[in-house]
Amino acid sequence: MVKALADDDIKIKLTSGRYYIETPEEKSAFVEDKLSRLIGISGWAKAATCCKNIDAIINKSIEEGKKIAQSGCKTFKINARRTDKSFPFNSYDLCCRTGEAVVNECNLSVDIHKPDDVINIEIREKVYIYSGSKKGLGGLPCGSAGRGLLLLSGGIDSPVAGFLLACRGMSIDAIHFHSYPYTSLESKQKAVQLAQITGSYCMGIRLYILNFAQVQMRIKEKSPPEWITIMLRMAMMEASEKAAFKIKCKCLITGESLSQVASQTIENLSCTQSRLTIPVLRPLIGYDKEKIIREAQRIGTYDVSIQPYDDCCVLFNPRHPVIYGDRAQANVIYEKLELSSLIDEALKNYELVKQSLSK
Ligand code: ATP
Ligand code: MG
Repeated sequence: MVKALADDDIKIKLTSGRYYIETPEEKSAFVEDKLSRLIGISGWAKAATCCKNIDAIINKSIEEGKKIAQSGCKTFKINARRTDKSFPFNSYDLCCRTGEAVVNECNLSVDIHKPDDVINIEIREKVYIYSGSKKGLGGLPCGSAGRGLLLLSGGIDSPVAGFLLACRGMSIDAIHFHSYPYTSLESKQKAVQLAQITGSYCMGIRLYILNFAQVQMRIKEKSPPEWITIMLRMAMMEASEKAAFKIKCKCLITGESLSQVASQTIENLSCTQSRLTIPVLRPLIGYDKEKIIREAQRIGTYDVSIQPYDDCCVLFNPRHPVIYGDRAQANVIYEKLELSSLIDEALKNYELVKQSLSK
C-alpha cells in the first residue's frame, strides 16, 4: 500500500486493520485508481471529515445526501458508529438527527433494508462521513506468497494467469520469447504492454525478453514436423527454469488450460514439463476460454491481447501436431536437437524491461 501510493502529498496511517489515506482533493482520482488495482484490500471509501459537533455532522451528512441523490439514488440509510464514547450523542441519536435532516434537504427517502446507498458516520478520534463504499479486489497482499516467473505470450491467457496468482499474494516476474526478425517487433511490444497492465496490480513486473529465433530455426531443421510445437514448448520451459533459478523465482506460471489447443492435452502438458524440477503452476487449467476472456476484460488486458501480431509459437506450426505425445519419445527427440547452447546464448542476451510503479 505504502509503495503503491508513494507521493509527498499522500499520508497513510494504519490503525486496527484499517488504513487512513489523507490526500488533497486533486489527487483523489489517482488514489482511487491505485486502490482499485491493489490486491489484498477488501474495500475503500472516500470520506470527508468535520469537527466533532452535531451541527457540523448534520451539514456534512446533507452534503453526502445531495451527492448520492445527484448520482441517481432514491433511497438511503444512515449507519452511525461511535467509538469515542465522550461524544454526547449515541449512534441511535446520530441516525435520527442526520437521517431526518437528509430527508428534509435532499431528494431521498429512507429504506433501512435495501437502500441504494448508505451514509456512514463514524465518531472516532476524528469524524468520518462517507457513502459509495467500493469493493476492493480482495486476495492476499503482494509479496506474501513468494515470487513466480510467468511465461507471458502476447495472447489472452497468460496475463490472466499472472493476475490470478498475484491475487494469491505472489510477486510476478515475466519472461517472453520472440523470434525477431521472423516475428515482428510489435509482437514484442505487445508483451511489454501486457506486462505493464498486469504489473499495475502487483507492484510492477520485471519482464525478461529473449530472442528464440535460433532455437526455433534449429527445431524447424531437426524436429519431426508434428513434434515442432511440443519441442518449442520444452525449450521455453528449459530456458524459463534456468532463468527462474537465476532470478530466485520459486515456480513457473503459464496460461495453459486443459485441452484448449493440441499442445495442452494432459499427455502433451506432461511432455512439456517432463524435464523440469521446478513446479509449474497453471491457474487457468480448468477455465474455459469465455471465462478467461471475461477476466481479461475485467483486468484490462483483453484489448491489447487481441491486437493481431504474430507470436513465435505459430511461426512453424505443424499441420498435424502430435496430440497424445509420449514423454519418453518427446525426450529422445528433444535431446537430439542439442538446444542447450542455443538456449544459454538466448539467456545471456536477454533484454530487461522494468516497470515504473507510479504510473
Ligand atoms: P495465451 O495462452 O497467453 O493466450 P496463446 O494462447 O497464444 O497465448 P498458447 O499457445 O495457449 O498461447 O500458449 C500456452 C502458454 O505458453 C501461454 O499461456 C504462455 O504461458 C506460454 N507461452 C506461449 N507463447 C509464449 C511466448 N512467446 N513467450 C512466453 N510464453 C509463452
Ligand atoms: Mg492459450
